[in-house]
Amino acid sequence: MKIGIVGLGLIGGSLGFDLRAAGHEVLGVSRQTATCEQAIALGAVDRASAEFELLSAAEAIFLCTPLGVMPQTAEALVPYLSPAAILTDVGSVKASVVETLEPLWHRFVGGHPMAGKETAGIAAAQAGLFANRPYVLTPTARTDSEAKATLEHLIRALQSNYYECSPAQHDRAVAWISHLPVMASASLIAACQQEPEATTLALAQALASSGFRDTSRVGGGNPALGRMMAQYNREELLRSLQIYRQSIDRCILLIEQHRWDDLERHLTETHQARPQFADKA
Ligand code: NAP
Repeated sequence: MKIGIVGLGLIGGSLGFDLRAAGHEVLGVSRQTATCEQAIALGAVDRASAEFELLSAAEAIFLCTPLGVMPQTAEALVPYLSPAAILTDVGSVKASVVETLEPLWHRFVGGHPMAGKETAGIAAAQAGLFANRPYVLTPTARTDSEAKATLEHLIRALQSNYYECSPAQHDRAVAWISHLPVMASASLIAACQQEPEATTLALAQALASSGFRDTSRVGGGNPALGRMMAQYNREELLRSLQIYRQSIDRCILLIEQHRWDDLERHLTETHQARPQFADKA
């Protein structure tokens, strides 16, 4: 197929590598000419341009820009699409994106590959990023079923684990396992930074090892992406943060009251629950 990618960054570039490897012709459009040139040089796309005209023959287009510019990017792109073209996006939040993009194009299907890195931009793109990771499509009652089936086929060829759910269900679920962890992890780093004694802070930084590396990883990621998650999934993120705060308060209470058996019971429950969320890939 002829595949279009708009926004040649971490996700767009990584999709380009894998779709090309699967035998598709990949046409990239990005804001900066330098990014287009880099994407060609790296092998993420066959051809690239700063002009949407390049995508006039594309059969499926992945919108991979930051969330905040998706509506205007889609509006500018639509006049160039061929009538049967399928449009999808990779945004980390779905309800607001689907609500805005669905009325713009009759063959639009929202999507979200659940894979990423802390680094951004085309230089961070890598082949195989989506293999063995979830990739969810968020169809609605208006979704064209043939367009969805074609995307499902493309996604399965990336070796991704395919899922479907509504945009609202997606946003509530990812608030728990993606957006809350970013805020919790950032808060952990911010709390450590509040150690008032300079020598103790320096010692903590020097002694930090694998446990801190794992728990601080997503909090030390792309700030613009974290902002977008909060801005566009505000209600669901606030809901999960409030429940998380209750969870921390419970830990404080158990420790303040020397309730060590209750604390161990609590940690036994989390120890048992973790494999249901992690260690699957
Ligand atoms: P990124 O690395 O920053 O790439 C986005 C690219 O979009 C940039 O390289 C930029 O290319 C282009 N762009 C076009 N218009 C832009 C504008 N007005 N402002 C800034 N950049 C613009 O970001 P990403 O991590 O790939 O994220 C892209 C999308 O994937 C987002 O919607 C995000 O929610 C979603 N997503 C991200 C992750 C993750 O972990 N990173 C995971 C899943 C989904 P130029 O260089 O040409 O300006």
